[in-house]
Amino acid sequence: MIRKEYTCVLCPNGCPLVAYVDDDETPVITKVEGSVCPKGEDWVRQEILNPMRTISSSVRVRGGDAPLASVRTDRPIPLARIMDVMGEIQRVVIDAPVEIGAVVLSRPAGCDTDIIVTRSVRKSA
Ligand code: SF4
Repeated sequence: MIRKEYTCVLCPNGCPLVAYVDDDETPVITKVEGSVCPKGEDWVRQEILNPMRTISSSVRVRGGDAPLASVRTDRPIPLARIMDVMGEIQRVVIDAPVEIGAVVLSRPAGCDTDIIVTRSVRKSA
């Protein structure tokens, strides 16, 4: 049995959580302590079994007043797929103008997320 310590990131309370895991081949979580609310326990179970992350990056813009537009995933993706998703984002080139919220890529690497613009870029004068 392995004892793993975490700090819940879901709210400013930052509860210290402890998970006890039987970790032979597939982890089995036997107990979680320290969670003030059910969300914390759910989060630590996800963090152990299938950690998810929201990622930010940028894409190239043609004919804009800036060469790049910042983007992010619109929902978390599996940590293990981040490099695949980043690879697809790096290949994206869009034409100005582009507005905040525009979808520049759907379901990268088969993940259930869209890549959306977080900074508008106007057409160059
Ligand atoms: S366990 Fe609940 S109360 Fe504690 S940090 Fe996580 S979400 Fe907030």
